[in-house]
Amino acid sequence: MNKGNRLDYFGEDASRLGQKKLFLFDMDGTIYIGNTLIDGTLALLEDIRSHDGRYIFITNNSSRSVADYLKKVHGMAIPAGEEDFFTSSQAAIYYLKRDHPGKRVYCQGTRSLVAELKKAGIDTVEEIESGIGVVLVGFDTELTYHKLCNTCEILNKNPGIPFVATNPDWVCPVEGGSIPDCGSMCQLIKGATGCYPRFLGKPEPTMIRLVMEKYGCSPEETMVIGDRIYTDIEAGLRAGVDSVCVLSGECTLADIEQSERKPTFTFDSVREILDCIRAARGE
Ligand SMILES: [Mg+2]
Repeated sequence: MNKGNRLDYFGEDASRLGQKKLFLFDMDGTIYIGNTLIDGTLALLEDIRSHDGRYIFITNNSSRSVADYLKKVHGMAIPAGEEDFFTSSQAAIYYLKRDHPGKRVYCQGTRSLVAELKKAGIDTVEEIESGIGVVLVGFDTELTYHKLCNTCEILNKNPGIPFVATNPDWVCPVEGGSIPDCGSMCQLIKGATGCYPRFLGKPEPTMIRLVMEKYGCSPEETMVIGDRIYTDIEAGLRAGVDSVCVLSGECTLADIEQSERKPTFTFDSVREILDCIRAARGE
């Protein structure tokens, strides 16, 4: 796309992106891949802040805490503080406190996820203990067969126990390919127990709604930017906000053409979103 063009990949007029105040970014595949920053990211973020906008990084990845993410993005020179993140772990904490207050939670997740739950005051255990009232599964990069056996035993011995998981993603993109994410781990548990969780991260609109509420922004002022139709874009659709699909990550043009659920706008990468916003301002 040439500078001055306000059209997206399919020729849609994307001028209204110039009116947005709250930008909810996916991370993996959208602003970086692995440890490589996607060109245009820093310039777009700087442009948002210098025009009194706000950006929040919304991620389904529960294997890392906000502190882990801060370290990662600071390593790529992305300006961000703790308040600029919202993760599926935070969504899980919100859900557990609201729908299962006081219950003991068995967590199959990373040490980082368990620590976040405990810090939030949730009674969290990692072994089979008495009084477990909820099972939570996260994207566990420290998964062991022992943990899987624990999870299956609890689900098998407690029919109907609330079973939730942080995110439905099948894979997590890494440089050179992809690795199994929470959705794939839950398929394994389903195969062994017949139990399948309710997922809390994207495409559920919860994270988007909570952030809009926190910053007092309307759906019209908000947009979601991501690289996956079945999580990022679907969450935007369910929350009633505009969505931008970037082709720098998982989703291809063919995926968008074949999908019944479409993003509002499609761009090659975040670089073109910035070009479009500047063009909409007449720059
Ligand atoms: Mg992504």
